[in-house]
Amino acid sequence: MMGISIDQDKLVDLFLQLVRINATSRQEKPVVDFLKQRLTALGVSVYEDHAGAQIGGNAGNLLVSLNGDRPAELFLCAHTDTVRPTEHLKPHITDGVIRSDGTTILGADNRAGVAILLYLIETIAGGNVRHRPFEVAFTVAEEIGLLGAANLEWNKLQAPSGYVFDSSLPPGNYISVTPTAVELHIRVFGKPAHAGVAPEKGVNAVSMAAEMLTRFPVGRVDEQTVANIGVIQGGEATNVVPGQVEMRGEIRSFSEATIERLLQQLDADLQAISQKYGGSYELHHRLHFQGFKIPEDHFITRHLKSKMAEVGLTPAGQVYHGGSDANVFNARGRTAINLGIGARNPHGNDEHIAIGDLVKMTELALALVEAA
Ligand SMILES: [Zn+2]
Repeated sequence: MMGISIDQDKLVDLFLQLVRINATSRQEKPVVDFLKQRLTALGVSVYEDHAGAQIGGNAGNLLVSLNGDRPAELFLCAHTDTVRPTEHLKPHITDGVIRSDGTTILGADNRAGVAILLYLIETIAGGNVRHRPFEVAFTVAEEIGLLGAANLEWNKLQAPSGYVFDSSLPPGNYISVTPTAVELHIRVFGKPAHAGVAPEKGVNAVSMAAEMLTRFPVGRVDEQTVANIGVIQGGEATNVVPGQVEMRGEIRSFSEATIERLLQQLDADLQAISQKYGGSYELHHRLHFQGFKIPEDHFITRHLKSKMAEVGLTPAGQVYHGGSDANVFNARGRTAINLGIGARNPHGNDEHIAIGDLVKMTELALALVEAA
């Protein structure tokens, strides 16, 4: 690569400073303030949007523009919240891998992405790099349902397409296809009665739920679809005919028609079961994230592949069944690919990241924005 070499110690130090900041979803202010302070000190102008107020958080998305007065070509994104606290984090480095002491998460999801993009902006701000006009979005509340991205002030972000630095896959892997995910909330209502004295006066909601579960397909429904009922709650006492059962689940599919068909079938089954037992039901569903499929010949796929090759990464497009801010960007018509940054075992206390991966992804970030 002809580009700039990365100061590994400086990058690792930046990452360690970032993971030591305790800032979970809706509580991102300390990390957002840290970013603001560092960037404004360098004369980079930042804009904090109003997403925080909209979602009941204490900080908004931080948008950084490095466009000059040219139209932005690309955006890069990472999220500022961690899934669990990093308070009292004791990072250890062994054999080039950064871990916690096992009592907390490391927070590499997604502070590694934040560190990479902050390092990038600071390098650009230091001058001497001819770069494309680009933007950076540091989003809040990703871990609790992509809420920061969902409430982003879109008129403050110009670029039509970009990259999210938030997949746990090893560098080189990139997510260009994901399913759509829908969350289910089902309640079946029977009628409570004394189970010992007058069971015939009751309608057993557990029996209704059981019958529903025999009809609703869980697990791998077909090649494109998985479904799950993950939570079930109901009943009050052994001698009471249960009056209510609540269930939560989800459907993920690459086919929206299949999701629609399963929802209709579920609704029809619940209706039939309610009639049979003399009970009733409520079925609510909510879009968790919208699926996407980015064409191989799209500019950002081609650009990514050529820059990966430049920094010595082997590009590997992946289908992934989870969601990220990239789903929100794509649903908003801003084409986005989620990049593997190597933050392994996210959300677990054994979360870790190799320094080599951190450096490699920073090289890639620089290559992506360097002027042709
Ligand atoms: Zn993440």
